[in-house]
Amino acid sequence: MKRSSPAEEKGIVYLVGTPIGNLEDITYRAISILKKSDIVACEDTRNTAVLLKHYGIRPKKLVSLYSQIEEKEGERLVKEVKEKNLILSYCSDAGMPGISDPGALLAKKCQDLSVPVTVLPGPTAALSALVLSGLDTADFSFFGFPPTKKGAMTKFFSSLKEREETLIFYESPKRIIETLSIMKEVFSGERKATIVRELTKIHEETIFGTLDELSSLSDIKGECVIVVEGAKERSVDSKALEKEIRSLLKEGSSVKDVSRLIAERHGIKKSDVYEMALAMQGKTK
Ligand code: SAM
Repeated sequence: MKRSSPAEEKGIVYLVGTPIGNLEDITYRAISILKKSDIVACEDTRNTAVLLKHYGIRPKKLVSLYSQIEEKEGERLVKEVKEKNLILSYCSDAGMPGISDPGALLAKKCQDLSVPVTVLPGPTAALSALVLSGLDTADFSFFGFPPTKKGAMTKFFSSLKEREETLIFYESPKRIIETLSIMKEVFSGERKATIVRELTKIHEETIFGTLDELSSLSDIKGECVIVVEGAKERSVDSKALEKEIRSLLKEGSSVKDVSRLIAERHGIKKSDVYEMALAMQGKTK
């Protein structure tokens, strides 16, 4: 077991939440810690320099730490923090470090090397979009960017099709139209979804609709989050269902195939159909 205490004044690493558009979205504490940091490490020094300049912060040392070098350079920096008793702040390009951005490996290095690490919470596009989406916020999952290749994306969404919680994805404006059309194919056109784009910026927009409607949009610009409603439990007439299962089993389909087919046909859980089919055959799981 390892424990990390943010009460330390020196020899500590801060993961700093930064704005996702509007530069005003940063905490007083983040500004104060950035001011007194011995090292500000960041994903892209050009980006973070703009933020620091906006708040009149002149970093003692500004270094680059992007995903390709996070493991090795992160370790070197954490060792330096420990040996020289320094304060290091880490900022990704936008939002929370570690959320589809570097930062998580740095936190792990701190744990491994017993260097205190803490977080200065800030905005994240995923949660901001969820709150705006009008969809269920009590139960949700975040998946970051989906795979880019069509086959892999279809397989990935198929694996999420029966999930009942709200699903949150990041997507680039270049791919979003195709992604929405694959979502429509896999999740069905009636499924509700919300596109939240350019959060906190001048052209912020939230588009609510069904996947049918959203996938017919021709041009979606800017940074986007897609929030998709979870699968709804549908009430299906159990007598009719039994009849369908019985007829498929009679035709020689396996219980597994019957479960998949009926679940897809009625938008219900495969495991529920599987149990029903087994029970009808006088077996239990
Ligand atoms: N670390 C960031 C966070 O906490 O949200 C995410 C970084 S990830 C590399 C960038 C993606 O986040 C974008 O492609 C977009 O999907 C989403 N994103 C970031 N800023 C956004 C904004 N202002 N509006 C909508 N989506 C945004």
